[in-house]
Formats: sequence, structure tokens, C-alpha cells
Amino acid sequence: MVFKLPELKFEYSDLEPHFDTETMELHHDAHHRAYVTKLNETLENYPALHSRSIEELLICLDEVPEEIHDKVRNFGGGHYNHSILWNIIGPDAALKPKGKFGKEFELQLGDVKKFKEHFSELASELFGSGYVWLCMNASRELVIKCFANQDCPLSHGLKPILTVDMWEHAYYLRYQNKKEEYLDAYWKVLDWSKVGKMWEHHCQHLKAAA
Ligand code: MN
Repeated sequence: MVFKLPELKFEYSDLEPHFDTETMELHHDAHHRAYVTKLNETLENYPALHSRSIEELLICLDEVPEEIHDKVRNFGGGHYNHSILWNIIGPDAALKPKGKFGKEFELQLGDVKKFKEHFSELASELFGSGYVWLCMNASRELVIKCFANQDCPLSHGLKPILTVDMWEHAYYLRYQNKKEEYLDAYWKVLDWSKVGKMWEHHCQHLKAAA
């Protein structure tokens, strides 16, 4: 086993009534676990890749042998993308960007209410399965991007700080086709303090690399 399913920092029931217990358990323990299992199976006969972190695999996806390239993108992305999602949602979520990140957010993206409206609109219009992301590029600009399936921003030179999962498995049990209700619920469990921490983490790495 190279990769492991990360434990959540909260209980499956802690995000009720916004994200229901059954969906959370299925999403983490069945869907995310399946990505981890399939990723490990994919890498089994490629010991040269076993020392790479999931971030390294996805950043340098072009270095992965062609015959497993798509599987690493799909299963590796599935593992990493869900890990990001679990990291930025939680009970008692901070509902606005604050501090240094808050200032940067306002400077670049303006009012958080308008940002949420725009982001939700892109998410509800996303065709098929995928995610909407807020990322930082190499020039420290905050950019909104949509990627299909489990394609990861890391493979496109972007550092993700916020995401919403628009695969049906993320919402269908509780919200069926009512994507707007799912998105309203998402903003209630999104913890902006965690988003700010991801932003600071990427800023420090950029500084170290400069
Ligand atoms: Mn998902």
C-alpha cells in the first residue's frame, strides 16, 4: 500500500443538515477509498514511482509511463481532489475569508458574496462530472477554473485552495437534481480559515522556490 485513505477530522454526521451522514460516509469510505485502492493497484508494478507523493505524481503527470497515465490522472486525481475537499470543509466553519488571505481575496476578487454567486453559477452549469476550483497561479493570481472528471489543477501548473465536487455522488442522495440547494449547503460547511491556510501554504512554497 503506497497511498492511504486519510481520516476525516470530523464525524460523518457533523455536517448535518447541510451534508447528510449517509452521503458523507459513502463519499469518503466508498468513493474516495475506491480511488485510493485503484491508484495503488495501478502503481503496483511501478516501484520507481513509489517514492513520489501524490502531489509530485500529479504535478509531473507527463513523466508517468503512457500506459498508466490516464489511470494516475483519474485515480490519483480522485484521491488528491477529495483530500483537498475534506480539508476545507467542517463543522463550525468560518464563513468569510479573514486576515492576510482575506485582504488578498478582496483585492483580487472583490466581494465574497459576488464571488460565491459567480462560483455557484459555474458549478451548477458544469456539464457532466467535475469540480470548480479556486487556485493560485505562479504569479500569485487567484483564478477560478473548471476541470472535468478528476483532472487536477496541479497537472496544469495551478495550486488549488478551494473546490466544490460536482459529481452526482456528492449530492444526489440528499439533493437529487437541485444543484442550487447543494451549493447553498456547501457554502455553509466551507471553512474559509482552512482555505486561507492552503493559500498561505502555497505562498510559502512559492517564496522558498524563488
Ligand atoms: Mn466526490
